[in-house]
Amino acid sequence: MKEFSLKKNAQLSRKESINVGGLLPFSMGDYPMHLSAVIFCQGCHWRCRYCHNPGLQPFSRPKKGSKLEWTRVIDFLKTRQNLLEAVVFSGGEPLLQPCLIHAICDVKKLGFKIGLHTNGTSPSRFEKVLPHLDWVGFDIKAPIEKYPKITGVPKSGDSAWQCLELLLQAKIPYECRTTVHPKLHSIEDIQKITQQLHQVGVRHYVIQQFRKEGCNDEKLTIQEPHLTIDSILTHELESLFNSFSIR
Ligand code: SF4
Repeated sequence: MKEFSLKKNAQLSRKESINVGGLLPFSMGDYPMHLSAVIFCQGCHWRCRYCHNPGLQPFSRPKKGSKLEWTRVIDFLKTRQNLLEAVVFSGGEPLLQPCLIHAICDVKKLGFKIGLHTNGTSPSRFEKVLPHLDWVGFDIKAPIEKYPKITGVPKSGDSAWQCLELLLQAKIPYECRTTVHPKLHSIEDIQKITQQLHQVGVRHYVIQQFRKEGCNDEKLTIQEPHLTIDSILTHELESLFNSFSIR
């Protein structure tokens, strides 16, 4: 993750409590069909073993003095108003930021579309920010009963599947995606997830194969990282969704 360089003595704003762990100035892959910047929120209370950005899990930055102040983020985005179309809030987990909605409104005022990458950890906060979003990349980790195996947190699937229902009711563009690793997911898991998604009305779904980069779990990185999904299953999954892909 390449970060925007910081200058000292920047003014703090009321929104300083949004904890920014990093900023990707340019991305072609974080908001479909749009050039975007990505704001990485610091902090996540889940502990997925395959996490490729574990440095964003703690709620305070590991390196003292490296906090990216919100006013600097806004200053940077002002320089990109005619160059980028969207800004994506990612993480970490953005919904854990108390001031997320204010930060979203600040960015929206600059004319950017707003994307959100979320694991769906807080239905009450998600409901509040949904009207301000233009697109959501929504993580589905596992069938609801197997969430704790992936996240390390009991009952974590409850909030995620509640948020998914809110997302579908909101009728805004989205993508549901599941990151898979053969040590953590079986083909039966994929079949169960996709049946559950289909039943609740999800129409856009992506399976993301695990990427080693950034992951600090050696038991995952040393073995064959791809779950084999044969053409028969692929065809089945294509029939369940309006759009389906493996990447
Ligand atoms: S929810 Fe996302 S940020 Fe949090 S630990 Fe899992 S992969 Fe990492």
